[in-house]
Amino acid sequence: MPRQITLVLTPKQAADPKYCTSLAARRMGIRETDVALVRVVKRSIDARQRQVKMNLTLEVYVDREPQPGPVHFDYPSVEGRTEVVVVGSGPAGLFAALRLIELGLRPVILERGCDVSARKRDIARINRNGPVDPDSNYAFGEGGAGTFSDGKLFTRSKKRGDYNKALQTLVFHGATPEILCEAHPHIGTDKLPYIIRNIRRTIADAGGVFRFDSRVTDLLLHDGRIRGVRCGDERIEGAAVVLATGHSAHDVYELLHARGVRIEAKPFAMGVRIEHPQALIDSIQYHCRTRGEYLPAASYSLVSQENGRGVYSFCMCPGGFIVPAMTDAAQSVVNGMSPSGRTSPFANSGLVTEVRLADFEYLRPEWGELAGLKFQQRFEQAARREGGEHQIAPAQRVSDFVAGRASGSLPATSYIPGIVPSRLDRWMPEFIARALRQGISTFGRRMRGYLTDEAVVVGVESRTSTPVRIPRDPATLMHPAVGGLFPAGEGAGYAGGIISAALDGERIAEAVKNYIG
Ligand code: FAD
Repeated sequence: MPRQITLVLTPKQAADPKYCTSLAARRMGIRETDVALVRVVKRSIDARQRQVKMNLTLEVYVDREPQPGPVHFDYPSVEGRTEVVVVGSGPAGLFAALRLIELGLRPVILERGCDVSARKRDIARINRNGPVDPDSNYAFGEGGAGTFSDGKLFTRSKKRGDYNKALQTLVFHGATPEILCEAHPHIGTDKLPYIIRNIRRTIADAGGVFRFDSRVTDLLLHDGRIRGVRCGDERIEGAAVVLATGHSAHDVYELLHARGVRIEAKPFAMGVRIEHPQALIDSIQYHCRTRGEYLPAASYSLVSQENGRGVYSFCMCPGGFIVPAMTDAAQSVVNGMSPSGRTSPFANSGLVTEVRLADFEYLRPEWGELAGLKFQQRFEQAARREGGEHQIAPAQRVSDFVAGRASGSLPATSYIPGIVPSRLDRWMPEFIARALRQGISTFGRRMRGYLTDEAVVVGVESRTSTPVRIPRDPATLMHPAVGGLFPAGEGAGYAGGIISAALDGERIAEAVKNYIG
């Protein structure tokens, strides 16, 4: 059995494997030459004190002990087996498909966007102020919303499934094994597309079907059951339908509503992206002038209550870029991503506040359960009016946003399409602007330097969570009124983030297996 040892080291020591091996051997009272392998199984940064420390948990193997190899997954052939329609190839759809294969069912994946290579070109065009393809953008296409992202793999819902298996699955498909030990693992936008392509190959090699450019436009409903879906004129049938279309697929919510399939308005969150120079965040978090060569770009996670309304940072991207995440040109929506090395000189994060049912109650008489969606759309359209064409986004210096004054100029930004000065403090719904201003002031007291005119808020961060839930029976995980319909992932309102959507997809596949028998 390997022995576990915990070391508290300086960042420089932690980066030196020889030093770690020799220290571990000394701690165990053995010779360094008897150590066969040292494996880091957990790594975290402790920046609470002036001197930043690295906590490493090591597994030390001595001679002749069996050593761990990479985990291997077997996906049996499902050629000719019962077919299950999976709508959407985001993490929920892909992990549902992989699990369906393990359970002997054949997934037929329908994806409105294109494969990840073609999608890269569409995304580059969006960044260069070109047109936004409503089926191929930062939210839609192979791999879903997380493909061009920071690829943070941390989730608070680890208990909802096998978190380690999900990470191992990513490693099996090409992610670096480091993600298995980091306290806050991330993959990076430069590596994600390759992993997504490998997952597609696994699914196809096992006999699963992938169909791109296949936007589902209708549901085949009959006698309280779903028999399949329609993509334009074509019918695609299956023993069950997994609906994993994400929360940006507004047309899917509208379709469900129009077809009388029950959906529910739910509270969600909206706000802005906030961007600081990375060096400033490093100096605040690591208590130093520069972070040096051994520490990664620093991150933060902030939360406060402002007059009873939660304000929090979300999806923080150290060393990252703000990206245009709209799904059509009539909206301005921003989000964040980072390359694996987190090398950009900017640190951005969502900064959002709760949007409650009561905040959009006034839209209910006209829009019913779609009221939250309409409220979200109005926010995004207002941002588009303020920003302008070609994905130019409205922005304000953070200090001006808090003080309630116009910004005469804007600082440098990572947002490639460009930003223009705008009074976000004025045109946003008043309760959102107020909560964010108070939140930033609170965070500025906790992190000295956070409230600064070097930082900018960019509009708008509106897609952190879904304003609509597609209900599920808690026992069967199926829609309570439509037999065979399995809402999954973020769009259904049961997940938020890459890993939680992936875990939800796995659970749904198991529920589908129970249903089909
Ligand atoms: P999605 O990933 O949204 O996938 C839905 C899929 O369904 C899409 O591929 C879409 O094209 C397809 N689809 C939609 N409608 C139809 C239709 N009618 N017919 C056929 N197909 C359809 N989360 C993290 O945990 N860490 C991060 O670092 C992170 N960064 C992000 C950065 C960006 C820029 C964005 C946009 C999101 C980020 N997220 C991150 C959020 C994360 O991507 C989502 O939580 C996750 O992808 C949700 O997975 P999902 O499978 O439920 O839905």
